[in-house]
Amino acid sequence: MTRYANEILRIINASNSHLTAEQIFLEIKRAEPQIVLATVYNNLKALNKKGLIRILSVDGKTDRYDKIKKHDHLVCKTCGKLADFQFEDLAENLSKQINFDVFGYDLKVFYECTECQNIKNNLK
Ligand SMILES: [Zn+2]
Ligand SMILES: [Zn+2]
Repeated sequence: MTRYANEILRIINASNSHLTAEQIFLEIKRAEPQIVLATVYNNLKALNKKGLIRILSVDGKTDRYDKIKKHDHLVCKTCGKLADFQFEDLAENLSKQINFDVFGYDLKVFYECTECQNIKNNLK
């Protein structure tokens, strides 16, 4: 792995905030001022291909990058904010029900975050 890929992986694994490529770029730029955004995108793609990070896509929002460790996501249906949560692994249960091996799943639970609820309540 390249130095950049290692550094990007370190940033993603150290963060809990589901960074966008731009945020990762700004972070890595502090240590590597000569890096360009396209390099960050290429490394993110390569890391994802190797199964070292995952890409989180939410309709209409910029892709986010996240660590590979198994966890699920709460997604605010209004602002798209992501929060982590742990759920028991459903793969085994699901395998039994459908009689096929389950390789994995990507669970998103939609809700409305406190900030968005507050904004709505203030408009009433
Ligand atoms: Zn929200
Ligand atoms: Zn996450």
